Amino acid sequence: MHGRVLVLATGNRHKIAEIVRIFPESSVGVVPVFDLIPGFDVVEDGVTFAENAFKKAAHAYELTGRPALADDSGLEVDALDGAPGVYSNRFAGREGDDAANNAKLLHLLRDVPDEKRTARFRTVMAFVTEHGVEYASGTCEGSILRSPEGSNGFGYDPLFFYPEMQRSFASLTQDEKNSVSHRGRALAAIAPVLRTYFTGTAR
Ligand code: IMP
Repeated sequence: MHGRVLVLATGNRHKIAEIVRIFPESSVGVVPVFDLIPGFDVVEDGVTFAENAFKKAAHAYELTGRPALADDSGLEVDALDGAPGVYSNRFAGREGDDAANNAKLLHLLRDVPDEKRTARFRTVMAFVTEHGVEYASGTCEGSILRSPEGSNGFGYDPLFFYPEMQRSFASLTQDEKNSVSHRGRALAAIAPVLRTYFTGTAR
């Protein structure tokens, strides 16, 4: 019998609520790794999302002895051969400087015509247990605007135009974004794997 605790290698508390919803009747406790290992830190120096997600989940598993889930996400712009990719958070140099990252993106794409501004957000999740690792991924296709639109969200949301809703991600409500986002899709893809591990059935 597995201990019914899933360790989440993220500091982001709203991700926890989303994951709790996967399991029927709160049958599994979802615990942020920081509650068990204060100061938990992983150098995210992988060159793919999968590598970084694996590093985080594997380290959380090693330290806690519990099954661990981690995710890694970013933006891939076709005209930039997939950049910023795993460097999305520090594209302009400083960690988490959204304004500088967006400014750099607009600058690099200044001469790129509309039809070549295609891009996608991607999330890869890694689930590490005593059996090894399983991955799932989710993407959301769109294109890069010529100027920011909307004030919701974070990161590249103001520049990411989502054609199906004819709006930027920063113009969507949180619920609208969750229903179509790369992160939501990756979570939906890993959900059966998590349910099978913890409850013995995928549904
Ligand atoms: P993380 O792996 O979820 O921390 O994402 C890494 C970086 O990718 C973030 O700091 C953002 O720059 C970018 N990013 C990931 N997901 C999103 C999103 O949903 N909207 C906007 N930017 C995102």
